[in-house]
Amino acid sequence: MTDLHRLSIRELSEGLAGAKFSSRELTEHYLKRIAKLDTQVKSYVTVTAEQALAQADAADVAIKAGTATALTGVPIAHKDIFCTQGIKTTAGSKMLDNFISPYDATVVAKGKAAGLVTLGKVNMDEFAMGSTSENSFYGATANPWNLGHVPGGSSGGSAAAVAADLAPFATGTDTGGSIRQPASFCGLTGLKPSYGRVSRFGMIAYASSLDQGGPMARSAEDCAYLMNVMAGHDAKDSTSIEKDVDDYVANLNGTAIQGLRIGIPKQYFNVAGLDADVKARVEESLKKLEEMGATLVEIDLNMTEAYVPTYYLIAPAEASSNLSRYDGVRYGYRAENPVDLMDLYKRSRSEGFGAEVQRRILIGTYALSAGYYDAYYVKAQKVRRLIQQDFLKAFESVDVIAAPAAPTTAYKIGANLSPVEMYLGDIYTIAVNLAGLPAINAPVGFDKDNLPVGLQLIGNYWSESQLLSVVHQYQLATDWHTKRAAIAEENA
Ligand code: GLN
Repeated sequence: MTDLHRLSIRELSEGLAGAKFSSRELTEHYLKRIAKLDTQVKSYVTVTAEQALAQADAADVAIKAGTATALTGVPIAHKDIFCTQGIKTTAGSKMLDNFISPYDATVVAKGKAAGLVTLGKVNMDEFAMGSTSENSFYGATANPWNLGHVPGGSSGGSAAAVAADLAPFATGTDTGGSIRQPASFCGLTGLKPSYGRVSRFGMIAYASSLDQGGPMARSAEDCAYLMNVMAGHDAKDSTSIEKDVDDYVANLNGTAIQGLRIGIPKQYFNVAGLDADVKARVEESLKKLEEMGATLVEIDLNMTEAYVPTYYLIAPAEASSNLSRYDGVRYGYRAENPVDLMDLYKRSRSEGFGAEVQRRILIGTYALSAGYYDAYYVKAQKVRRLIQQDFLKAFESVDVIAAPAAPTTAYKIGANLSPVEMYLGDIYTIAVNLAGLPAINAPVGFDKDNLPVGLQLIGNYWSESQLLSVVHQYQLATDWHTKRAAIAEENA
């Protein structure tokens, strides 16, 4: 079959179970596409072909033996932030270019236990800091919809791989939008779960109180399949919640949109820099949801102006602490011929980290230093609480909150925005992480240059099933999620 990459996760699952094709055939098909097309997209940092074929053969045995799960034999790409035993795990950094993880992240281990086949590790902004994936030591990944544009970030490799049909779905992580914004830029569905729903064990830390892993795929249904694998309590992550996991696939159907109260924050649609096409597509999608039975309710989110300054204190503060472990001594990059210990530390870190990571370590260290701690870090934590309360108040009168995922569509590669301009592009995503809420991006059309636009829906805590179900119902009634970039149409 030459069109295996067209199939949804459900179709792959059914096709494998019904012996229409084998996992080996499917895996070879994807590996062939990667070999042919990824020279243009540059989504993979590492392709694990040999291991993938071995996993595929094992999956085929399990399917024949009747011991398969719904996902046995289905290929996946992992963001290169998830530790993979025996395989290079770089977090997009020169610092970890030589790092072979001795263990699997819980998300990866769960994927293996479910029979998923790992195609490889995909590109990202260094240590997940960025919005374009250009901050990677391995170079920029291209947006499949227009190879001169970025796929977004930091999970840009995950998004580009799926949008170019170089993986059926992928894992991502979202500290301040890194699942939702690249999903938006690449026309995909991506879910950032509630903080604590997915284990962070073995997921290289950026800002621990904000980081959360989640699925990136072509549809809400495909995301639901991956959530069924990713979600759940993990004794190895004390911040993961001991709460029953939904069956995200079984919960997709129903009447999620009928009577749904969607909050429209006044402040969000008056943000300077909100692109006219993005605004128009988002408003059209909301109109469609209204036709399908939802009610639109205007709400206030008064803390909107505080989002960017608060996030860009807390995230760098936590990053400066998390990244102190890369000292050139224990693992990772080590500078050559150090004259003394200080020289080893200094040169390993200034040679091993890129500019954006160093910038954030400096900001974070400053914000946490004696004399400034109360003025910056403690104050930011107080504002963070107010931002959370703002959302909780809104959820007293609405079920979900609608927003664009990003104020613009995908930037040009090399657009070279200033750090502050770049940070302002995170306005719609970062508050969700500060509050620990779940949110989903769904594709809802294109701008005048044929670049995808995304609608973001923010839910209350643990409402992942509801968000997936709303988007699934929307996707049953529309076809934006079925559109493919030209490069995805190419056969290998
Ligand atoms: N763009 C944001 C940042 O640079 C979010 C990144 C993320 O979610 N990992 O921090």
